[in-house]
Amino acid sequence: MSLTANATAAFGEAYGADPAGLWAAPGRVNLIGEHTDYNDGFVLPFALPQRTVAAAGPSPDGRWHVCSTLAPEPVSFGTEDVGEPGAVTGWGAYVAGVVWALLDAGFEVPPVRIALDSDVPLGSGLSSSAALESAVLTALVDLGGLDLPLEKRPALAQRAENVYVGAPTGIMDQSASIRCQDGKALFLDCRSYEVEQIPFDLAAAGLAILVINSNAPHQHVDGEYGARRKSCEAAAAALGVRALRDVPVSGLPDALARLDDDVMRRRTRHIVTENQRVLDTVSLLGEGRVREIGPLLTASHASMRDDFEITVAQVDVAVEAALATGAYGARMTGGGFGGCVLALIDAGRAEETAAAVAAAYEKHGFTAPTSWVAVAGPGAGRV
Ligand code: ADP
Ligand code: MG
Repeated sequence: MSLTANATAAFGEAYGADPAGLWAAPGRVNLIGEHTDYNDGFVLPFALPQRTVAAAGPSPDGRWHVCSTLAPEPVSFGTEDVGEPGAVTGWGAYVAGVVWALLDAGFEVPPVRIALDSDVPLGSGLSSSAALESAVLTALVDLGGLDLPLEKRPALAQRAENVYVGAPTGIMDQSASIRCQDGKALFLDCRSYEVEQIPFDLAAAGLAILVINSNAPHQHVDGEYGARRKSCEAAAAALGVRALRDVPVSGLPDALARLDDDVMRRRTRHIVTENQRVLDTVSLLGEGRVREIGPLLTASHASMRDDFEITVAQVDVAVEAALATGAYGARMTGGGFGGCVLALIDAGRAEETAAAVAAAYEKHGFTAPTSWVAVAGPGAGRV
């Protein structure tokens, strides 16, 4: 059954009624620009075909009710208990957080019943959390006729995740899920929140992006993420700039000379060069020179592995195996310590590349990876 059919059926089963409508929001993969978001820098995600679908309709008892095919327990809350951040915990916090952020921004949020289904893998760095928030937010905005323009929605969903759930993420995930467009990559300035839709028609260039989920267990993610953020903030402070985004690549040698800590120097070098790689990727894509972004992807991986130190053996092996099979470039995508790799390949070589990665995993004794070709899809909306 399709996601929409599943969500509709789940709605009927849970609430004994038909939904008023269906809304969907995608997961995302970041083409390039890793850990640059919280440094006020640049990212370039595109929306995945995988998405979270919300079947939703009015709630007769004035409370919010949410169930998910991917969660054992349904969640229910009212205006009185959504209250302060932290009142609803577990997966329901992502939903309650969106309601809370809307209420906090002064909106009259319609009480609704929601049933969710999704094929975005949870916790694999493809942003199932933003897909969930964005699907719920879009449904609430439409059902309540709320005056919340598209460009203001990502920050609100981010607030739900940062403040209510308590996960310190940047603005990229929610921006991608809400603002991406079919066949485009989203060039996002994480300081101004300005976006530009970049043509990303791989098929026309005879190319494809293979996404390889390493299926590696995530370890120490929160602590390491926090440590990277701290390091970047400390480096910016030491250099007297608002954020590392303010160090251009031409100023890197001077900046490195002024930092006395080796770890901080390497973290800085990753962010500064990564921002430049995003800009270079955008230029090449704008000129239709798609294949030429390959070396930038691979350089990004090396920088994450050696300078930012956020890769693990599984993602390094996937990148190496893809490159050895003829990929034009490959890199880990997402926050790191597991998650997914993407490889830019000739359109006809997906199976061969996936098989080569799987064989390398077997040789290393790793859990088998999962691979698929990702095509840039649309952002959140009614379906
Ligand atoms: P990622 O965003 O990379 O997939 P996160 O840890 O940020 O990983 O978010 C995953 C969490 O989001 C899950 O553990 C779950 O609590 C929640 N979640 C996401 N999608 C769903 C869904 N469809 N149903 C229930 N919970 C979901
Ligand atoms: Mg997430």
